[in-house]
Amino acid sequence: MKRTDNIWMDGKIVPWDQAKIHVMTHALHYGSAMFEGIRAYKTDRGSMIFRLEAHMKRFYRSAKIYDIKIPFTVEELVKGIKTLFLSNHIDECYIRPITYYGWDEVGVNPAGNKVHVSVAMWPWLPYLGDEGLKNGVRCKISSWARIDPRSLPTMAKAAANYANSILARTEAQKLGFDEAILLNVNGMVTEGTGENLFVVLDGAICTPPLSAGILPGITRDSIIQLGRDSGYDVRERNISRGELLISDEVFLTGTAAEVTPVREIDGEMIGAGSRGPVTEIIQKKFFDIVRGRDSKYSKWLEPVN
Ligand code: PMP
Repeated sequence: MKRTDNIWMDGKIVPWDQAKIHVMTHALHYGSAMFEGIRAYKTDRGSMIFRLEAHMKRFYRSAKIYDIKIPFTVEELVKGIKTLFLSNHIDECYIRPITYYGWDEVGVNPAGNKVHVSVAMWPWLPYLGDEGLKNGVRCKISSWARIDPRSLPTMAKAAANYANSILARTEAQKLGFDEAILLNVNGMVTEGTGENLFVVLDGAICTPPLSAGILPGITRDSIIQLGRDSGYDVRERNISRGELLISDEVFLTGTAAEVTPVREIDGEMIGAGSRGPVTEIIQKKFFDIVRGRDSKYSKWLEPVN
């Protein structure tokens, strides 16, 4: 990780090395933390945070599901993020707000522990690699099922959900794949371990519905909107494992992974085995938007300054 100078912790800016928590922190033992992943991009009009409002909304919603009362207002957090950004002397980065229970009480029920919030940021290259962005990545259908919303709400960006992602991603990478794709307990396609999934099939762009048990990705939402605005038939519908293999194109979306083509699944070539034409168009539109080259979507960009 390429570290920066400072981290925002409970309202204060502290040097990176001093941003420490106690070993008895409830979140460390029981996963009682909610987080966000946001990106800021350099544009001609200065650094811009992509869809900050939507990320903040999801952050507070994740907390609400777990009855975590974030002790800061959205305005205070936004101000904290911007102040931190300027203090770090960077022009692009990944931003990681996290809220978590502290260490006042031991026991599974977190009530009684103080709620903390911190924000870190660091320059982060495309999560699945520059080469992956261009030529596509190789995925494995995980032997682990995606967590079922009856057990853990997949709507929440909860640290605990990532235990499932860790198992799937570790398995896939051990076997030489770049990323895992998880099916739900009904065998339907859900998402990657940190990305939503789209397929291009019979002229339509399809993505699993939220009810399949996925994180409501903000990149996913952006792609649905820009896809429809560009005249594509974009559908939220269940996708079977077989359909993945016969799709013309498959791509993954996420703040970290941006728009990454999938060229192979379980050794089977997807489409021509390289980035497909629709993926390329969507990818270009996405990068034009985040880099401030498409004024139609400037509402999605929040200036840091
Ligand atoms: N699914 C999972 C499991 C994720 O961790 C992420 C990354 N936050 C996504 C999807 C994509 O969400 P977003 O586009 O909001 O980053």
